[in-house]
Amino acid sequence: MAPAKPTGNDNHYLYGPVPSRRLGFSLGVDILPFKTCSMNCVYCQLGSQPKTTVRRREFFPAKDILTQIRAALQGPQRIDAVTFSGSGEPTLHSGIRKIIRGIKRTTDIPVVILTNSSCLINKKGREALFEADIVVPSLDAATRPVFEKINRPHPSLSVEKIIAGLVRFRREYKGRIWLEIMLVRGMNDGPSHLKKMKEAVARIHPDKVQLNTVVRPPAETSARPLSLPELDRIKAYFGESAEIIADFKAKDQSAAAGDISEAILATASRRPATAREISLSLGKPVGMISKHLLRLLREGKVRSVLHKGSTYYEKNGR
Ligand code: SF4
Repeated sequence: MAPAKPTGNDNHYLYGPVPSRRLGFSLGVDILPFKTCSMNCVYCQLGSQPKTTVRRREFFPAKDILTQIRAALQGPQRIDAVTFSGSGEPTLHSGIRKIIRGIKRTTDIPVVILTNSSCLINKKGREALFEADIVVPSLDAATRPVFEKINRPHPSLSVEKIIAGLVRFRREYKGRIWLEIMLVRGMNDGPSHLKKMKEAVARIHPDKVQLNTVVRPPAETSARPLSLPELDRIKAYFGESAEIIADFKAKDQSAAAGDISEAILATASRRPATAREISLSLGKPVGMISKHLLRLLREGKVRSVLHKGSTYYEKNGR
């Protein structure tokens, strides 16, 4: 039987809505135990976890997850998208298709799945995502050595199979595919590798290619970002469908209900966030968020990490 998720927050499986650079206010759905993933990417915001898995199962009950999502959709907060991401690779949850279907019966708000693409290798994994509106698969490598270096995958995975899975998924799936490429300095940004990536992208034919770089504290300090001019050059090289994921521009958000410290901890347990990002996410003034963060720092519940000149907060013991 699937266990209940252990947390002090009532919405065990949800976080946010968080301001997302590409989706507006996104209700985060997190359906896995912490860092359950088929990869262990050097840039992962969840830290390093060498024990990877490809075994799909119902980690937590699909019906409980759906109940919480439906309740959040009826709440006062602005929600522009329902996005599956968070503690690992969401497609490892065997009930994901059922949950997506349940959301689609409840709302027209787009359902978005962030995936590392490993599930697309097999038919069942691809079919599980058919009813989502947008799938954001990532592909950071086009060759085995680069794949091994950046994504540090489960031994059963190969980048050739993943690219073939993406090509098939493109043929079968009716929704939008935004292919995300995380560029890491000195690892996948060399000209010969970019040429191979471009060839893979041409085969996959996504609706968009979204170029990202290491903007949040990564698992390994060796994972370093590219500069904006470098990203601009790569964007031009990939052509019209490519874009650099721009910084999120603040929109109105109504105030979040409930205990602010708990809400901050729920956000900071999924990914490192700045005080401003937390303030936008919860619809509370940044000064108020900073006061709560100071108290949480003193109590040892969060820690601060300096990355690229910004201070990020993350939950201690994530
Ligand atoms: S970045 Fe995503 S795919 Fe990579 S290890 Fe972290 S959760 Fe898994």
